[in-house]
Amino acid sequence: MDLVNFEQRISAGDRLTGNEALQLYRHAPTYWLGRMADQVRQRKHPEGLVTYIIDRNVNYTNVCVARCNFCAFYREVGHGEGYVLAFDEIFTKIEETRALGGVQLLLQGGHNPDLPLAWYEDLFRAVKQRFPDFKLHALSPPEVLHISRMAKLPVPEVIARLIAAGLDSIPGGGAEILVDRVRKLLNCYSKASADEWLDVMRHAHRAGLRTTATMMYGTVETDEERLEHMLRLRAVQDETGGFTAFITWSYQPEHTERGGAEATGVDYLRTLAIARLVLDNFDNLQASWVTQGGKVGQLSLAFGANDMGSVMIEENVVRAAGASYCMDEVEIVRNVEDAGYVPKRRNMHYEILGDPFFREHDVPRTLELSKAREAGDTSVPAELVNYEARSAAGRKQRARPVSPEPGAGGPISPVS
Ligand code: SF4
Repeated sequence: MDLVNFEQRISAGDRLTGNEALQLYRHAPTYWLGRMADQVRQRKHPEGLVTYIIDRNVNYTNVCVARCNFCAFYREVGHGEGYVLAFDEIFTKIEETRALGGVQLLLQGGHNPDLPLAWYEDLFRAVKQRFPDFKLHALSPPEVLHISRMAKLPVPEVIARLIAAGLDSIPGGGAEILVDRVRKLLNCYSKASADEWLDVMRHAHRAGLRTTATMMYGTVETDEERLEHMLRLRAVQDETGGFTAFITWSYQPEHTERGGAEATGVDYLRTLAIARLVLDNFDNLQASWVTQGGKVGQLSLAFGANDMGSVMIEENVVRAAGASYCMDEVEIVRNVEDAGYVPKRRNMHYEILGDPFFREHDVPRTLELSKAREAGDTSVPAELVNYEARSAAGRKQRARPVSPEPGAGGPISPVS
């Protein structure tokens, strides 16, 4: 392998083919991959800034019919630990987020058969009515597909209705590896094939939304399939230019049906670096410190990342799989400055919003992540009676008397 030639080509901005990227991914020294990825990052971001966003990762329901075998978060329909957040609970989370300088919710959840399109539209409208400037970065492509299948409406129509209700952008979750062989083995092919996932993103971009793209690696995929995933994203980005950022993280195995071991930190840094080299049409790569920890997150800034992702206020999904690191804004800024960069707050469009919020406002330290709900809270939102349930368990639950306060979480019974 002629690393000198590769270095010249990467420095000149040449595009790598899939085979070239595979050679480098497999055989180039880790320090070399990091140096090349850092060179590309510097070319795209010469100003020496590292950005982050203050938002809150809210999972509106953990009830899911998809049953991906790598997921420790979901509960089956009718399970006693299944929940749907009340609109009021979500409003409270937004108020808490705003107090910390937060500008958006990252709102994702399970494929709950008892939440029809109207529930999402009503929630989004209600959020925008109360918090007009607050952004909704919501519903990954498989969730959009699930809603469209339940509503028996085409994806573009569902996206148009969600935008009309207040959707601002779409997170790139549920991509895992965009190769159908892998998706079948992970039992996530039926929630969205690789083509379906990419098509939702195409439709979103055509409708004027910006989205992110993700990759979860470290299950059953080969090196070739990781690169195929990146090449498919690169092709859509060539078509639409709608992706703002790429985020990759390793599979978190604890408490999952699939089990197994987690990929190493070196594997993460090599994967991040090769992504920076392959995804030449993506401006932003995030450091996934929530799964890799703050120290590897900081190292990511030398392996192609230019963004620290989100300040974590709440986390439920990674935590369920046994790993979740907590860094508040103070800690993120400390890591960024210690690595020699200037930290700046941004929005989802990567527009700079300003300097660290805590330096201008009196905010409490967040040393522990919030949960969707406190353990043992089995309340059922009163407003759910307004929406038709498809599952037998959901219909039974909604037939029971509910709290008289519309919009309030009613102290009814568990989802069981
Ligand atoms: S990853 Fe998402 S779609 Fe898959 S089981 Fe978990 S909650 Fe459901």
